[in-house]
Amino acid sequence: MSYLAKNYNRKKISFERGKGAYLYTSKGTKYLDFVQGIAVNCLGHANPKLVKVIKDQSKKLWHVSNAFQIPEGEKLAKKLCKRTFADFVMFQNSGTEATEAAIKVARRYFYSIGKPNKNRILCVKNSFHGRTIAAIFASGSKKMVEGFGPKVPGFDHFIFGNHKSLKKGISKNTAAIMIEPIMGEGGIKVIPDWCLKELRKLCDKKKILLILDEVQCGIARSGDFFAFEKSKVKPDIVPIAKGIGGGFPIGAVLMNKKVASGMIPGTHGSTFGGNPLAMAVGNKIMDIVYNKKFLNNVKYLSKYFFFKLNKLREKHPTIIREIRGRGLLIGIQIHKNQTKFIKKLIDNKLLTIRAAENVVRILPPLNVKKNEIDQALKIIDKVCTETK
Ligand SMILES: *Cc1c(COP(=O)(O)O)cnc(C)c1O
Repeated sequence: MSYLAKNYNRKKISFERGKGAYLYTSKGTKYLDFVQGIAVNCLGHANPKLVKVIKDQSKKLWHVSNAFQIPEGEKLAKKLCKRTFADFVMFQNSGTEATEAAIKVARRYFYSIGKPNKNRILCVKNSFHGRTIAAIFASGSKKMVEGFGPKVPGFDHFIFGNHKSLKKGISKNTAAIMIEPIMGEGGIKVIPDWCLKELRKLCDKKKILLILDEVQCGIARSGDFFAFEKSKVKPDIVPIAKGIGGGFPIGAVLMNKKVASGMIPGTHGSTFGGNPLAMAVGNKIMDIVYNKKFLNNVKYLSKYFFFKLNKLREKHPTIIREIRGRGLLIGIQIHKNQTKFIKKLIDNKLLTIRAAENVVRILPPLNVKKNEIDQALKIIDKVCTETK
């Protein structure tokens, strides 16, 4: 029997080791891993550069308290700020901590300028911002909050794509709008650039902060370092996690100078957040990923993958309904429930994961090879053919 709590309905496969885009079971069965820990292992499994950095740092220093200076963290924060909209960074350990810290930053800002009643956060109904007690109420998903009452107050919701509902959701107490530029768990739904622009304008007009949750779509996953970049919009606060650690748990909140002014000593903290081991890994990831050549390659691979997937949609119109997403954050929406489809892909040694709206989510490592994409396409084609 398993002594793990039953909060997951786990598949009956386990892996012993991984290399790049592949995972191996203890019996040596090889799987093409297009889940990658849900957009976490952005450089694939056991990347030699990451192995080296973790090995080197582990011999020097793993952890010290944030009560002391941590030069590795200073270095990573500087890289993030020099290259993005941000002026300051606060390190955490996970995505949900990052989104909650983002909410704290927003509320604390209004508190610090004497407007403590401006504290409500407006989110998309059925979005995903993590699993902690406030984050589940931010999502507005009935299923996620069931049994976890009392309700955490302070969250309002609007319907994705419904501008009337968005405007109705704003009140004089709204502090921030928090959205994912590309909804991951919600079904790989891309918010168009023009929408992000209008959203920024709306926030400016109503003196509301814009929080863009880039936990899943950020760190080069979209082909740009941030998914919102192409829109040229400047957010106020951006939580990140998943890809920035490449498999090592790291979260962070990026913020501009204005909102950072509320975060004075004592307002937030973390025991583990930003420790030297985590920061050494994060620095390496940034050096590899934040690079024009690397990003262009993600764009190139993405174009190829989308082109071929759309060909498969034309070939199997009764199975595939739509190809969604951007970069290497890809959703295949199928006509029926996707559970069986995903199981058949696994039987054919391709790992994918579900998202809402019957979507099969595909998250290859960002340094995936073209022949690995071809291999996945072949399996998807085969499963479509057999599903008929
Ligand atoms: C995964 C995810 C989170 C939560 O991250 P955890 O590390 O699981 O806590 C938050 N927001 C988005 C958009 C995510 O995809």
